[in-house]
Amino acid sequence: PQIGSSGAIKPIDTQSIHRITSGQVVVDLQTAVKELVENSLDAQAKSIEVRFHNYGLKSIEVIDNGSGIKADDYDGIALKHYTSKLTSFEDLSTVLTFGFRGEALSSLCALSNGISVVTATAAETPKGTVLEMDRNGKIQSKGKTARTRGTTIIIKELFKPLPVRRKELERNVKREFGKALNLLYAYALVPCAKADKGIRLTVTNQPDGGRKTLQLKTDGSPSTRASVTALWGPKALDNVVELDLTFQMETEKAVLRRQSTGDGDSPTTICVRGLISKFSPSCGRATTDRQFFFINGRPFSPPKIQKAFNEVYRSFNANQSPFIVADFVIPTHTCDINVSPDKRTIFLHSEANLIQALKVCPWNRHHVSLKLLIALCS
Ligand code: ADP
Ligand code: MG
Repeated sequence: PQIGSSGAIKPIDTQSIHRITSGQVVVDLQTAVKELVENSLDAQAKSIEVRFHNYGLKSIEVIDNGSGIKADDYDGIALKHYTSKLTSFEDLSTVLTFGFRGEALSSLCALSNGISVVTATAAETPKGTVLEMDRNGKIQSKGKTARTRGTTIIIKELFKPLPVRRKELERNVKREFGKALNLLYAYALVPCAKADKGIRLTVTNQPDGGRKTLQLKTDGSPSTRASVTALWGPKALDNVVELDLTFQMETEKAVLRRQSTGDGDSPTTICVRGLISKFSPSCGRATTDRQFFFINGRPFSPPKIQKAFNEVYRSFNANQSPFIVADFVIPTHTCDINVSPDKRTIFLHSEANLIQALKVCPWNRHHVSLKLLIALCS
């Protein structure tokens, strides 16, 4: 007999498993939007427009001018673990795309009232294809439409199949929308952090019965400073200096092994690049809402590193927090990006050492600490 057919322990049916795990991949409005924007960036889009309809309650629409999707790939778009980016576990340590698990679109299908895909490759433009997907990620209908190169994905009524989560979203929609917007600021800063190329990101919202309003916009400039100006105005750059730190990370154990045996791993070099506001009694911010951290251009939330930055800053300026854009440039094999379903948590091989290095003041040959940088330039 089949395993589990007689006892109390039985397998869950596939559809239920799908809905259970999908709810962990897309936990809120913010992650839903993040997944779509990441797909556009992965498709090399230069221009991305995000349209919220009624703060995302009615629909979320992301329009890009990326590669488009080939007809051969339509069937796999929203199937679980179908991806064009990763084929084996070994690739995970070198993956440079945002996506790699093939879970986002299948999860969004399971968690919404359906998704529409409009797409055209360079060869097909000005004609494109419209696909309607059902909750299982299967194509329900297919048609032709006018479309220049790129892809549009529309998510209708997010969380409709999960009544509790839908109610929560409706109740707190302004706050959830604010969170999504905040993450979009990070993505607006990504391309400059990642590849020195700018993208145009436009975000709008149209409340029910109201007018469409612009929420944020970058103009496609490759410089981080230009993006900061586009996002918050020129005043945001007052008292902001380049952040450019290099650390050679090596554990004490590795140093000892190298000294005694002459071999062992060579130290890992970590660079931190971006912008930070200098301390001065008249600047800094009352909140930590403008602090953006990236690993190799991938936005992430490192609570301990963020705390270290703020502690260093507050040792000069007790009441305020700096504006930070910090991209940690590190070898891909020294971090694990597959820690949490929403990919916001990243394991960093030498996080504790890095935090230590950020904080110490006297510098040695190998690193200028954050503390010294702030002290020198203020
Ligand atoms: P992943 O990003 O992990 O591959 P997704 O479910 O997010 O998984 O997307 C599935 C696949 O659909 C991607 O691998 C990609 O080939 C295709 N795709 C999704 N969005 C876009 C887009 N905006 N442009 C081009 N291809 C896309
Ligand atoms: Mg993806």
